[in-house]
This record gives sequence, C-alpha cells and structure tokens, in this order.
Amino acid sequence: IGLWPQPAVRPMDGSSSQWAGGESEAKKRLNKFARSHITAYRAERDFPSLAGTSTLSPYLAIGAISPRRCFEAATEANQNAQKPRELASPLDSGSEGITTWISELIWREFYIHVMTGFPRVCMHRAFQPATESIRWNVNDKHFDAWCRGETGVPIVDAGMRQLRATGWMHNRVRMIVAMYLSKNLFLDWRLGEKFFMQHLVDGFLASNNGGWQWSASTGTDAAPYFRIFNPVSQSERFDPEGKFIRMYIPELRSVGHESIHDPSAMPPLAKARLSYPEPLVNLSTTREAAIAAFKGIKG
Ligand code: FAD
Repeated sequence: IGLWPQPAVRPMDGSSSQWAGGESEAKKRLNKFARSHITAYRAERDFPSLAGTSTLSPYLAIGAISPRRCFEAATEANQNAQKPRELASPLDSGSEGITTWISELIWREFYIHVMTGFPRVCMHRAFQPATESIRWNVNDKHFDAWCRGETGVPIVDAGMRQLRATGWMHNRVRMIVAMYLSKNLFLDWRLGEKFFMQHLVDGFLASNNGGWQWSASTGTDAAPYFRIFNPVSQSERFDPEGKFIRMYIPELRSVGHESIHDPSAMPPLAKARLSYPEPLVNLSTTREAAIAAFKGIKG
C-alpha cells in the first residue's frame, strides 16, 4: 500500500478551527446533543445539510470521551424523555432517536471486535478472503479527481470537499463517496481507506476499515455486492434541495434544484457556463461491470 500513488491533495486551511480540543469540549458537545438533538436523531441523521448528528467522533477516536459516558448520557436522556411507566428498557424502547443513536455507538464497538477477532483486516486484507481475487482498476487520474472533489458527481464532490475543508464528513456521504470509489470507479477500497485516515480528524482504524469494507462489499455484514448506491438518487433523497452541495461547491450555487444533482444533464450552453467537470464515468455501465466482477468471484 505504501507504493500506491500519494494524491497531491492537502487538507484545506482552517480544518482545526471547529474542533476545539479536550474532554471539556467533548462533554459540552455530548450534553448539548443529549439535551436538544438526540430525540430527532433518527429523522435527521441522514441529511448532510442538517446538524443532526453529535460530531463526537473525533473525541471518541482519541479517547477524550468514552463510549460509556456517551451511552450513559443517552440512556439518561431516554429516561427523561419518557414517562417511567412507558419505559421497558432505555436500549430498545422509548425515544427512537435515542435508541438509534445508541445502536450507532454499538457499531463502533462491533468494528473494534471485528478487528480484534480478525486481525487480518488491519493488515490491508479483506474480511471476506474470496474478494481478494478482485482485480481493481488502476487509474491515478480518477483517484486524484475523487480526492480533489472533481468527479463531476456533485454529492461525491461536496463530500470530498467537506472532508478537506473540515476534516470530517457526514456518515451518509461517507457511504456514498466510498461506494462511488469502490463500485463506480472500481478502485481498490484500500486507497480510499488510506486517504480517509490521512484527512479525517476522527480517523479511527476499526470504524474506518469497517466502513470501507462495508462499502466495497468485502466486509462482515450484508452490503450485498449488487446493492450499489446510485449517488444521484442518494443526493435527490438526502439533499433534496441541494443545500449541502451548494455549501461546498461554489461553482454550482446558481444551479436550480432540478439540475443540481446531475448538472451533466443540463443543456450544453448552460453547462458550458459552469466551470464544473463532466462525470468521470457512466454510473449505470460501471455499476453493471462491478456486479459482474463480484459475480465472477470463485469460492
Ligand atoms: P453520530 O451519528 O452522532 O454517532 C455517534 C457515534 O457513534 C460516532 O461518533 C461514532 O463513534 C459512532 N458511529 C456512528 N456511526 C458509525 C458507523 N457507521 N460505524 C462505526 N461507528 C459509528 N467513524 C469514525 O469514528 N472514524 C472513522 O475513521 C470512520 N471512517 C468511516 C469510513 C467510512 C467509509 C464510513 C462509511 C464510515 C466511517 N465512520 C468512521 C463511521 C461514521 O461515519 C462516523 O463515526 C460518523 O459520521 C461520525 O459522526 P458523529 O460523531 O456525528 O456520529
């Protein structure tokens, strides 16, 4: 992996300014989230233009706060949110927002257990050994465009630019950019895993590896290889008005809702006025090719 190309991309300035350090900052974020946003978590967590998640991951990653403290705050908030008689267990009843958030904390624990039980995954190996026979594309130009946020797919580019601008990326968008890299560009997921670790302020080996292997369908759980996100439909669904896209792609700020998710479909003259790249690849043919490659795996 050390021999693979190093992208000529550095984090943008100001990436640390929104991440004040220390345990007191972590507690402040946890208390604020548990007081205000946690009950709406289930409804809001997938929309990257909303501040619907806790942004505690950098603090959890370096141990500035423990998952137990987060869990305690969540169960307490669940008890407070309900009348005592209604509450069977604060883990699987009460506020759906809170129980969903607890289940995300448990995903983190799950990936730590996977890494402990199957240490090959932290040595650049796939969890499912059979998938190691996949012949990923080698294309430095495509990889570089992905790193820079210049793939021509707005939701992917907005996510990659968010990463470089802030050191963090929304979970829904992490899944979209990771699937685009591993399924549409069909580049080795380990390139993306490494780039994320170099740029994320919350870079955490187990969760990052788990997230990448999930997206690439080489991992533990059922992201069946044929269930491939279409980044344009994901964008329409989770950023319907294009607010997140406009936040990070100034070139597209003047584009209307109808074209913001796929400006390549705009009339040629209107398109020519935007300094935004054409898509690197065709989404449906690359999807089919990825499915065929996975189908061909022996064993
Ligand atoms: P919240 O939604 O508020 O969740 C609370 C906490 O639960 C998070 O802080 C995190 O510790 C944990 N959590 C939430 N979702 C997940 C998940 N899917 N898997 C594991 N733990 C989760 N998370 C990291 O902490 N470090 C990484 O390096 C990392 N890399 C990822 C790479 C990919 C390709 C994907 C798909 C996901 C990755 N995640 C990673 C998981 C997830 O995206 C982040 O934990 C989440 O976006 C952090 O934002 P938050 O603190 O607001 O999360």
